[in-house]
Amino acid sequence: MSHRQAKTEVVIVGAGFTGLSAAQELRRAGVDFLVLEARDRVGGRVEARRNGLGELVDTGGQFLCEDMPELIALVKARGKTLVETHVDGEFIAQPPMPAGDAERNYVGVMEIRERMNGIEPDDPAMAGMTVAEWLERQQDAADTKAGFRSMIEGLWCQALENIPLWHLIDNDRRITNEASELQYFLAETMQSLADDLAGDLGDRLQLGRPVTRIEHAPDGVKVLAGDRVFEALSVLVAVPPMMASKLAFSPPLPARLARALGVWHSGAVIKVLVRYARALWRERGLSGMVMWRNLPGLFACDAGKDESHPAVVVFIGGPLALRWGGLDEAALRGEVMSRLVTALGPEAEAVLDFSYRSWIDDSWSGGAYSDLILDMNATDAEGVLLAGAPPVHFASSELSPSFPGYIEGAIVAGRIAARKVLSELEASRG
Ligand SMILES: Cc1cc2nc3c(=O)[nH]c(=O)nc-3n(C[C@H](O)[C@H](O)[C@H](O)COP(=O)(O)OP(=O)(O)OC[C@H]3O[C@@H](n4cnc5c(N)ncnc54)[C@H](O)[C@@H]3O)c2cc1C
Repeated sequence: MSHRQAKTEVVIVGAGFTGLSAAQELRRAGVDFLVLEARDRVGGRVEARRNGLGELVDTGGQFLCEDMPELIALVKARGKTLVETHVDGEFIAQPPMPAGDAERNYVGVMEIRERMNGIEPDDPAMAGMTVAEWLERQQDAADTKAGFRSMIEGLWCQALENIPLWHLIDNDRRITNEASELQYFLAETMQSLADDLAGDLGDRLQLGRPVTRIEHAPDGVKVLAGDRVFEALSVLVAVPPMMASKLAFSPPLPARLARALGVWHSGAVIKVLVRYARALWRERGLSGMVMWRNLPGLFACDAGKDESHPAVVVFIGGPLALRWGGLDEAALRGEVMSRLVTALGPEAEAVLDFSYRSWIDDSWSGGAYSDLILDMNATDAEGVLLAGAPPVHFASSELSPSFPGYIEGAIVAGRIAARKVLSELEASRG
């Protein structure tokens, strides 16, 4: 074997939470495997970077709640510190409305969401309808509909005009938390959890190895990354569907599978972290949580990890992210800060640090929080992808039966895929 060629039983492409969780399963089963990761770090859409003050902050996936059992179990097993997100105090709606009306608006938005999820995704009366078209037909007050648009474009990072109604329903029904999804975050950062999982893998993890091509071989597959060739019995492509669609396959994937990969599109999001010397909004009885109806996809909440690190995180999702993503840093900062000052008061101007991370067209995730199916008719795309073309398998948070698009979903999806790969290996051993 040349030094550029390596043999193993399973290659996992991608070391996000899906790939890392699959690797843990294979490790426990005593199978030989390699994880090939394009970036020089693990975690994928979970990432920590230093802000302008030198503090390590989550610039990707961060929050979790008690209704996400696998992630909570992992957090406990690895001895991480759960920080409760500060939510006490008044919730601010923009444009402003009295506190009681803001509460009622929120309840109304959640009622629309529940009504939507009560529709069967395959109801023929809804075929070919986008979420925007469905919303248009609802009788709710304009303010409530604006709140719904802002929440959905913020959570799914796509214009309602692009999202097939059946897909959003099918997706949202799997997001079953009753506690707020912003309930907790980790003092050590979520990225540190990915690092811990990677720590168990030793030299079975190779960073800086972007996979470009997967070929069928007599005994399985050849996975090509630069000038390296990895031979394996099977491969688990643990990257978002949109990124998987960029890989070359030889022979080409079955037409149905290639089509199923091609219908996914990445969302657009910019995550902003604003550090303050004091949590002045708390002193004024505000929770720090702000929802903008007039700027759909814009949302802020308190993300201070303790008394000495007051901070607000601002999410910019969907069409607004695409618009503001074209601005230079000073202009983006101007847009965000003017909105925060209007919502939280003039003291909000006095920032210690303003840092942001744009995930728009990110080289290795394509975007965030997750890919969505934007083809009205591709109702079988997820099932086709899940079936894969053994020995080529696909997994990512998007394909999870619970919490698709979340870290919890990635863990679940990775484990399910690993078990499939393991049973295929067992079957081939006879
Ligand atoms: C800003 C932001 C905020 C978020 N907030 C939350 C949150 O608060 N809570 C929550 O639960 N979720 C959140 N999410 C979503 C969550 O981070 C993702 O759902 C989850 O991390 C996806 O994991 P994954 O392993 O499926 O995919 P990824 O994390 O995308 O992992 C795929 C990996 O594959 C690698 N890769 C891609 N192509 C190749 C290739 N050709 N060769 C080799 N490697 C490749 C990538 O580099 C990446 O490491 C957020 C995401 C973002 C970006």
